[in-house]
Amino acid sequence: MFKITAYGVRPIEVPYFHKLNHNHYDLNLVPDLLDQQNANVAKGSDGVLLRGNCQADRHNLEQFKEWGINYVFTRTVGVDHIDLPAAQELGITVARVPSYSPYAVAELALTLGMTLFRKVGAELTNTHAGRFTVADSYFSKEIHSSTVGIIGCGRIGAAEARLYAGMGTTVLGYDPNSSDPHQKNGIPLVDLPELLQRADLVSLHVPLIAGQTENLIGATELQMMKPAAILINTARSQVVNLAAVTTALQHHQLGGYGADVVVDERHIFGNDFATLADLPSPELRHLMEHFPNVIITPHVGSFTEPALQDMITTSYQNFATTIAT
Ligand code: NAD
Repeated sequence: MFKITAYGVRPIEVPYFHKLNHNHYDLNLVPDLLDQQNANVAKGSDGVLLRGNCQADRHNLEQFKEWGINYVFTRTVGVDHIDLPAAQELGITVARVPSYSPYAVAELALTLGMTLFRKVGAELTNTHAGRFTVADSYFSKEIHSSTVGIIGCGRIGAAEARLYAGMGTTVLGYDPNSSDPHQKNGIPLVDLPELLQRADLVSLHVPLIAGQTENLIGATELQMMKPAAILINTARSQVVNLAAVTTALQHHQLGGYGADVVVDERHIFGNDFATLADLPSPELRHLMEHFPNVIITPHVGSFTEPALQDMITTSYQNFATTIAT
């Protein structure tokens, strides 16, 4: 029986791993993320399975190779946490989960968007502190008569577009990779400046590609956006220039920033800080301390039951097809 060590398995995930295994694999489920200290718990395994915030750097991969581990699986779409050139050099096969329920992230993006759009974040903070006055700043538009711009019209972007379209919202998309210049996955396409100028809320669903989507939304793009429009980022932190977001919020040019992703996630998500002052990112701390219209979730976009089941099922399929060949 092949032995798989899975890192970063949360307690709530354990029954799903066992239920979907059908006794095919000898599972070593490790709650900790992969790091230099605990790599050796995989000794004796045939393959390892990673979560997104496990970092498989060259050193870890060299150790795996030394221990006869020739397979690194990740239960994520992205592989930016794995040193792919090193894996290739060492002859380690890497396999990922190319897709899982896109509604997991799309629903969270919509929730962040609506929370800011209807000022619910600020309202909740105030009512829970005993302040029930209706502030003028709570005044809002309605989403059904507004326009949402989706940047990156792939699986998640298309799912969010369908959710907004169901509420009667006008949806526009921008995606340079489309065989049809007029639409992608049912979303009418416009160029980026037009989308930024017309949207009341902009939602990002692009992959992080160095030199292409890094800093895709910076000062210039923020200035093109409608005054007080909202920006939602469930993609990757580096797609947005946070310094430019801070400036746009200071000048009330941006109506709010909602994100499920932050810089240096490995040192932030998965940790509990006594106060915001202990956050290792001064930029994030400043945003969260000073702007009630900034809302951050701890990278939970894909933390839903259907998405988890898809990830584990595809990981088992990856074990079967990759290790068997
Ligand atoms: P996808 O590959 O289906 O879609 C990405 C789309 O972005 C593609 O249509 C592509 O053409 C487009 N694109 C590429 N470069 C672009 C650019 N410069 N401008 C505009 N569009 C561009 O991917 P997906 O499954 O929809 O996932 C999108 C991203 O969401 C992932 O890459 C990942 O970073 C992020 N994600 C976040 C979570 C979370 O938990 N928050 C979970 C899964 C994925």
